[in-house]
Amino acid sequence: MRVVIDYERCTGNGRCYALFPDLFGDDESGYGQVIGDGSIGDDQLDEARSAVVACPEDAVAIEGE
Ligand code: SF4
Repeated sequence: MRVVIDYERCTGNGRCYALFPDLFGDDESGYGQVIGDGSIGDDQLDEARSAVVACPEDAVAIEGE
């Protein structure tokens, strides 16, 4: 499974990396970035689901769930 960000939707409000720094960072302009290739284990799924809900732009998704 992977978390992904639709970079065309992201407005850089920072909720994902402020709330879930294990899964997301930011680029030099403050836009969210997945960490590494976004791969997550079962133990991170709840956190990733919360990040999907937390993003006000519907930019975060989970692939392969
Ligand atoms: S919460 Fe959504 S809109 Fe905000 S930085 Fe993260 S991906 Fe972008």
